[in-house]
Amino acid sequence: VHGRGLTHGRTGNVSARVGDQVVVTPTGASLSTVTESELAVIGLDGTVREGKPSKETGLHLAVYRSRPTARAVVHTHSLYSAAVSCIPTVDEDDALPPLTAYYRMRVGRLPVVPFAPPGDRQLAVHAGRAARDAHCMLLRNHGAVVAGDDLDHALDVLEELEHVAQLYLLLGERAAPPADRHDG
Ligand SMILES: [Zn+2]
Repeated sequence: VHGRGLTHGRTGNVSARVGDQVVVTPTGASLSTVTESELAVIGLDGTVREGKPSKETGLHLAVYRSRPTARAVVHTHSLYSAAVSCIPTVDEDDALPPLTAYYRMRVGRLPVVPFAPPGDRQLAVHAGRAARDAHCMLLRNHGAVVAGDDLDHALDVLEELEHVAQLYLLLGERAAPPADRHDG
């Protein structure tokens, strides 16, 4: 995640679901240096089994509970996605236009979750609600959350989301999705 330029400093957290357990990056970790022995293990109900899970773990658990097929969740404060989350006028049902074909395929709809402080229970509640019918979301004035079939999938989706957020901010009002193709 760090290597792809999607996080900075000690922000961002990553989790993977194995059966009824979730492996999550520890609190205060930099994703560039975290090692396997530092990873925390928790039950889907939030019971800590090993290590010190990230304070944003509640968010991950809420997404897994709403999306039983998800096997990985990535949350970052990636620059352009975070920037879009700070624009008060974005459509909270779907924040970005589908500027690229990959975005349409990989991201789809992008709801914006109302603001609550990081680690706040209310933030997890909002995220869990949004995750029922979207695998990507923005957290208001905070960052992005993506659920995937595995970690690679979630990272690919997050990368496309970040790319389109950047395009959108570069283009401003000139940004437009591709016109529908009419054959013949
Ligand atoms: Zn965060």
